[in-house]
Parts: sequence; structure tokens; C-alpha cells
Amino acid sequence: MTDAAPLMLFNSLTRQTEPFAPVHAGEARVYTCGPTVYNYPHIGNMRAYVFADILGRTLSFKGYTLTHVINITDVGHLTDDADAGEDKMEKMAAERAQSIWDIAKHYTEAYWADVKALNIRQPAHWSIATDYVPQMIEWAEKIAPKHCYELDSGLYFDVSTVADYALLAGRTKLDQLKETEEAHMRIDPVKDKRNAADFAIWRKTPPGEKRQMEWNSPWGRGAPGWHLECSVMGGALLGFPFDIHTGGIDHREIHHPNEIAQNQAYCCTNGLDVADNSGARMWMHNNFLVERSGKMSKSSGEFLRLQLLIDKGYHPLAYRMMCCQAHYRSELEFSWEGLGAALTRLKRLVMAVERLADAPAGADANHPKFTAILDKFDAAISDDLNTPIALTVLEEALAVKKVDAAVKRAVVEKLDTVLGLGLFDLTRADLRIRPKAAQITEDEIETALSARKAARAEKDFARSDAIRDDLASKGVEVMDGDPLGWEWKLDA
Ligand code: AMP
Ligand code: ZN
Repeated sequence: MTDAAPLMLFNSLTRQTEPFAPVHAGEARVYTCGPTVYNYPHIGNMRAYVFADILGRTLSFKGYTLTHVINITDVGHLTDDADAGEDKMEKMAAERAQSIWDIAKHYTEAYWADVKALNIRQPAHWSIATDYVPQMIEWAEKIAPKHCYELDSGLYFDVSTVADYALLAGRTKLDQLKETEEAHMRIDPVKDKRNAADFAIWRKTPPGEKRQMEWNSPWGRGAPGWHLECSVMGGALLGFPFDIHTGGIDHREIHHPNEIAQNQAYCCTNGLDVADNSGARMWMHNNFLVERSGKMSKSSGEFLRLQLLIDKGYHPLAYRMMCCQAHYRSELEFSWEGLGAALTRLKRLVMAVERLADAPAGADANHPKFTAILDKFDAAISDDLNTPIALTVLEEALAVKKVDAAVKRAVVEKLDTVLGLGLFDLTRADLRIRPKAAQITEDEIETALSARKAARAEKDFARSDAIRDDLASKGVEVMDGDPLGWEWKLDA
């Protein structure tokens, strides 16, 4: 690359694209809000981690030493983000008559399987919320005198005690007052809160009840509030202030303003510089993956998990490709047609890369034939992670003619370290659509297709058609002369 473009990122705090300026020279410290492990993640949730992964890969590409933390929430997240409802984990455990610990283990492992299938790199730390409860209590004790008040149901954070509460959500002080007045007119789910936006730091176990997960605290037995977890784990593992905090756009409204309020309260008591009191310098949010028929909801029977895509025959990286085709700040609509198109695009790339497989690895990517392409890629990814353009530049690189295959290979490998499609580990056979429910194995299909080829060579068209019809009855579509070289396809 000739002149590396400055890395520009959209900061939700200022609603502006800003140059990335690390707190610690040469380093990037990133915290990502992780899943609540009461159920399988849906593919919308996984978009949040593909985005965080591309951010992390970009920071590495730009030469920063990355420390990434993703947490696992196994306590404290209520069915309603605004402090109402039950603990999601307790609710699921009661419905299933299982221990919370078993539920957490099962769904954490399921989430990690999706992480692996989507080529999301392992962060430096997976922080598990229940490992940090003593630190959460210490935190709460520190901020309680100036910023919290106790009610029968728990310890609450008074949002009027910090400057600019909900700035991140784009709400003003006036909006907050109005919300509080309105909440007082309604029956507030939590009685006697001072402001509508006040939130639980500690939730006491109601008298006579026993929760599966509860700890002793100065405010009685109970469990920490969800927002407190992320503040404590981010501060403990990355130190305040760290560089970037990420999450889905829904977190811009409640969870992250609450984290910021806690961090402001905590950092002020530590006498830290005001500008850095929000804990992280940049707050970045991915937009939602949406689906029209409601299949994203975990309460609908068959919801859109990555495993459902795999069972229908799609390679999971087709979904990663789908995410890369959209900018992370745009809403992305899921459809099976869209997924199929992403799969085809991935297959085209894999076919082009297969031609480079025999070229020796380790060549220098910095070759005059590729200077402009490398610069263009760098400019795209440095422009607030513009993966849709970066992808087209990767395609351009593959189309360059009359060039040493080893150099081309090095260029493609370099660009793929950012996009993470794992192009050199895929074969076109991996990308065939093969539903789990298929009536026929791949070997049987290949045998039938060889027999059909032989029949056609002998001009025995009746037999060749019979084989084709037999395959069709088993859900296999024979694709003669397909320009993309799909020899066959199983109906999903
Ligand atoms: P949760 O397990 O509910 O805490 O969510 C995990 C992550 O997924 C959070 O960062 C959410 O903001 C994000 N998220 C939830 N729904 C979607 C969606 N439909 N599209 C993209 N991100 C989402
Ligand atoms: Zn969080």
C-alpha cells in the first residue's frame, strides 16, 4: 500500500464519523456486548458478532494490537430491557425444569459453534458475567452513596445524577422529564422510581422466594443488574477508558446509556478526566437484520438460527457473505433468495481462488500490478468498514490478468484477512446446497450422474432421461451447462 488511509469510524456518541485515535499507542481495546445464553442466538444476533469481528480484523489489518472482549450474560438480563419482567435465564430454567447452569452451558456452546462456523475470530477474553459478581458488588458499593437509592425491590441508579444521561440515545433532559412524568401517570412496573429511566444495579430476591442464582450483598440477597455487568467486565479487562464498545442498535437506547451513566459515576469517583468518563471513547452499533414473517423472534417455533440455514443446505459462510454485502449501519433484510445469491457470489470467489491453490504461499502482495487495488481496498475498509465496496475490490483483484499467481494469491489472502470468508479453505463442493432432509446421498448422486454421462455418450437418451427423472423425484435438479458449474442442486 502506498499511503494508508486513516481509519474513520462512526461514533454513535457524536453521531459522526471520526478518526480512530487509540488510547494506548499501537493498541486497540474493544468490548462487545455478548449474548444472553437462555436460548439459541438467531442470525440477527450473529450479525452483531460478524460486525464486531470485521471491526477487530480491520484494526489488526491497520496494524493495531487488538484486545477484544466479548461477554457471556448468564445472569441479570430481564425479559424487558427497561427493568421489567423476569430474568430471562430464570424463566427458561423454570420452563424447562433444568438448572440455570446447564442452560447457560448448553446455549454458550451453541453460540460458540455459530461463532466458529462464521469464521468469527476468538476474542482475547470471553468474560462470563457470573464470574464477576464480587467485582460488581464492589462497584455498586462505590457508586451507591452519590448515585443510587434503595427500594424494596433493589438498588436503583438515579439517572439525574450524571451529566447528559441518554445523550447516546439522542434524548434530551426535557425528553427525560416528560418520560418520567408519563411514567408516574402510568403504573410503573417498578414502584417509586425517581425517574422513568432509573435502572436496577442490584435486584433483591423478593421475600419468600428463592432464585437459582443469587448472592449476598449489602442490599440483601439478590442478583446484579444486567447493565452493571458490562461496565464491570469492560473496566476490569480493558481498563477505562478503552477504545471501542460495540453492540446492536437496540443497545443505543437503553443498555449503553445505562452503562455510560454507571461509568461516569464510577470514573468520576476515581477522578478521571471528564471527556473519558463514558468508559469507551467510541460506541459503535450495527443495524438490524430484519425478516418479514417474524421468523427472527425466538418465541416463534422455527426461528432463524444458523443451524436452520445449515439444515436447509446452505453453507454458514453464505450468511457471512450476506452480512458483508451490506454496510453494518444499514438495515439488512433476510430472504432465502438473498442468501442463495450470497452463496452464488461466494461460489464464484471460491472458483476463482481454486485456480490459485497451487501457487506458492508467502509471496509479497506489494506488487505494482496491485498497488491501486490494495489502496482501494484500504480506503474502502477504512471508510467506516465499507465491506460492500471492499468485496468488489476483492473481486477486482481476482480478475487481474497476466500476473504471477503467487502474488495474486498473497493479495487475495491479505484482503480476506479482513473479510474473513476463508476463501482458501473452501471448495466448490463445500458450497453445494444439501439439505439435511435430502433423500439421497452425494455419493449416490455422483454415481447416478456418471451413469447418465455414460448413457449420453452412448446416445442412450431414454436411459439418460430416466436417470434424470429418478434424480428429480429425489429432489435433485441436474444443472447441465450451468455457467457457474453447479452440476446439480438439491431442492431446499
Ligand atoms: P442479546 O442476546 O439479546 O443480548 O443480543 C445479542 C446481540 O444481538 C446484541 O448486540 C443485540 O443488539 C444484537 N441484536 C439483536 N437482534 C438483532 C437483529 N435482528 N439484528 C442485528 N443485531 C441484533
Ligand atoms: Zn452489554
